Amino acid sequence: MLFLFDIDGTLLSTVGAGMRCMEAAGKEVFGEGCHTGGVQFAGRLDPLIMREMLANAGLPPSRENIAAFRAAYERRMLETFQTPGLGRSMPGVHELLKRLDAEFGVTMGLLTGNFEKTGLLKVRACGIDTARFQVSAWGDDSPHDPPERNHLPPVAVERYRKKLGRDPSRVVIIGDTPYDVACAKAHGHIAVGVGTGKFSREALLDCGADHAFHDLSETEKVAQCLLSA
Ligand SMILES: [Mg+2]
Repeated sequence: MLFLFDIDGTLLSTVGAGMRCMEAAGKEVFGEGCHTGGVQFAGRLDPLIMREMLANAGLPPSRENIAAFRAAYERRMLETFQTPGLGRSMPGVHELLKRLDAEFGVTMGLLTGNFEKTGLLKVRACGIDTARFQVSAWGDDSPHDPPERNHLPPVAVERYRKKLGRDPSRVVIIGDTPYDVACAKAHGHIAVGVGTGKFSREALLDCGADHAFHDLSETEKVAQCLLSA
């Protein structure tokens, strides 16, 4: 069984720090025009957010521009997260992850729009042990152009196969936005929604989640749901 958790809005909140670093990095490298106006963040891939911010500045999403943007963003994030207490884990997250650690036959991973380095930084800032996430797919792992979140589940499944030498019996994707739900359903996986981001439990069920919770605080109920999903 493979459980893939989204990061922002699902495991944790950076209370806007991630977004502020993205905006500051864009402006630092490309000027004031590279702003977040009209750009949606929730559930989106970091490289796509950068493309849209570059478009705001009238700049192309060239490899060089994205690389410079990314380097500045990583620098800002490293600086910002030196301050302790910036990340806040969502209710029940620590307990649920610990409960699942103990479960035989479960592999956990992250499926997220974050780049690996900055994604892990956020997770660690909340005191979550990242060693338990054995198989992950990151914001820049799509093999296609333009990249989409829907491209990421097969990347994670392929990594599982390489690591364990077999297919996962089931894949469950846990996330807080319709994008998380859609990327699970696009590949016949199970989508579990959690209403700790910008979308309610009901909204996530309406867009096709197989199960959804207000938050992850009812450890045993959520664990049983994931294990039997
Ligand atoms: Mg999210």
